[in-house]
Amino acid sequence: MTLVIAEQQDGTLNKSSWETIAAAQQAGGPVTVAVVGADTAAAAGELASADVAEVLRVEAPALTPYTLDGFVAALGEVIAAEQPGDVFLPHTYRTRDFAPALAVRLGRALVTDCVAVKQDAGRRLFVRPVFQGRLLADVACDGPAVATFQIGAVRADTVARGAAPAPIRAVAVTVDAGAIRQKPEAPFREAKQAVDLSQAERIVSVGRGIKDQEKVALAQQLAAAIGAELGASRPICDAGWLPMDRQIGSSGQTVAPKLYLALGISGAIQHLVGMKGARTIVAINKDPEAPIFEVADYGVVGDLFDIVPAVIKELQG
Ligand SMILES: Cc1cc2nc3c(=O)[nH]c(=O)nc-3n(C[C@H](O)[C@H](O)[C@H](O)COP(=O)(O)OP(=O)(O)OC[C@H]3O[C@@H](n4cnc5c(N)ncnc54)[C@H](O)[C@@H]3O)c2cc1C
Repeated sequence: MTLVIAEQQDGTLNKSSWETIAAAQQAGGPVTVAVVGADTAAAAGELASADVAEVLRVEAPALTPYTLDGFVAALGEVIAAEQPGDVFLPHTYRTRDFAPALAVRLGRALVTDCVAVKQDAGRRLFVRPVFQGRLLADVACDGPAVATFQIGAVRADTVARGAAPAPIRAVAVTVDAGAIRQKPEAPFREAKQAVDLSQAERIVSVGRGIKDQEKVALAQQLAAAIGAELGASRPICDAGWLPMDRQIGSSGQTVAPKLYLALGISGAIQHLVGMKGARTIVAINKDPEAPIFEVADYGVVGDLFDIVPAVIKELQG
């Protein structure tokens, strides 16, 4: 059985939880999902719509707010009792924190940032990018592993739904609040000005083709017209034209919106690894040879200063 650890915050499931369930279903074999916190009823109810064997509610008062020690203690106990095969998690800020400690607690290998699982001559292999996404490595593990899945690697809407809701089971865990060493502060996405682009449905992203800081307002207008968040390539954030939390790519955020509109972005590999999981990619670039067109579903070759105002006018008209 593959155990998926879903992620929730105040009863709201992180979209990447569905992507990870889809990855587990595609890997084959039965799937069980666990959701962890002080109150997991709402999230467990939603998760039960997936075609899974069971949904486990791992609840204890000390599990909210999130802490590494709390989660490792609770999940260590559940995994020891349930004895699953692989444990799958979405690759989020939170799991980056606790998954390594959990793997050590379980004495298992940890494979991070996976994009797929495949079978090769009876062996289960995890596929993950290496060298800034230039190559994909097949990782073999001897026993059951802990694996995190890159956001956008598997589409959330490919989750198989059950004919009837899956059974929900409460699993008792004892988490000693006094043994938790971390003192949590406000979550990252609630920090001042910070934006979690990984949850955005639409993103208008701006690159060096925008030429100067004042012109970023044009991209902002387009984003407002389609209800999108604003993203950027690294040079735009390095120049301080947009804050660093807008940067998309290997050293920024990984995003998987329904629509990604790239304005004047060449499509360097470090940018592509952060956005190629978008469902529909539209690129506007004046260079027909720009690598962004290799991943784009729709490509517009032309000057963005001609095209973007015309698109905004059409949308507002
Ligand atoms: C270790 C490392 C980590 C990195 N991490 C990241 C990262 O996280 N995110 C990231 O984005 N980059 C990252 N980079 C940088 C990356 O390699 C590229 O340099 C960067 O993505 C290029 O940004 P760009 O596409 O905006 O600019 P450019 O490559 O300069 O491309 C500008 C594009 O705009 C087009 N253009 C120009 N004028 C117009 C116009 N008027 N209309 C339409 N199109 C126009 C041009 O044809 C060109 O294709 C990283 C690099 C390294 C070494």
